Amino acid sequence: MDFDTPLFDIPLAEAWIRAIAAAVEKEQTRLTELDSAIGDGDHGSNLQRGFAAVLTALDGLQPAGPGAVLTKTGTTLISKVGGASGPLYGKAFRAIGAALPEPAAPADVAEALAAGLDAIRTLGKAEPGDKTIVDAWTPAVAAFRHAAATGAALPEAAAAAAEAADRGARDTVPLQARKGRASYLGERSIGHQDPGATSTALLFRALADVTTG
Ligand code: ADP
Ligand code: MG
Repeated sequence: MDFDTPLFDIPLAEAWIRAIAAAVEKEQTRLTELDSAIGDGDHGSNLQRGFAAVLTALDGLQPAGPGAVLTKTGTTLISKVGGASGPLYGKAFRAIGAALPEPAAPADVAEALAAGLDAIRTLGKAEPGDKTIVDAWTPAVAAFRHAAATGAALPEAAAAAAEAADRGARDTVPLQARKGRASYLGERSIGHQDPGATSTALLFRALADVTTG
């Protein structure tokens, strides 16, 4: 193990969440445009409001470990975001927080992210291919796991996950939505990128950015 590479510690957990908040702020309009095409146009504002509340919650927090940062993030998202994405992301962050040991090696982070995906699937019941968050999160976890299993350090594993999530989000374009609001459109959901898969790609890109930092 290379001890020069960053560990998943409290500062890194906080940096990740702050980077997500900044990315959501920057991409809010795009997320809302995507959700206007196949949903109700609130995905950007839902996440912006949620992560702004998370930043406030983190300011007053004395976390016991990196997991506590993510658990607080999840709890805040659940209480502040009304749309489908609030409980889904909220449960995911709470599951990641609960699963993350300290110190966490890349393989531990991979398993924590997998626990996040399990939480999303348990709550939302979406399968890969249903044109949801799951379509970016699933390949991201697979890429992170594969990288960690072959000895990659955190930055490389996170970069591989970010690439996979980006690809997963782009690959939602030709899919017909089978879960969430977009499913009401039937075939008219085809030809648009899923907003939730797009925000999941932002989330994994933020992790790659802060671990490379
Ligand atoms: P709402 O659909 O309630 O307006 P948002 O606009 O914030 O909530 O989030 C929409 C996104 O939530 C969709 O693009 C999709 O990726 C995701 N989503 C919706 N339902 C599910 C589900 N059952 N499982 C996983 N993701 C889902
Ligand atoms: Mg919406």
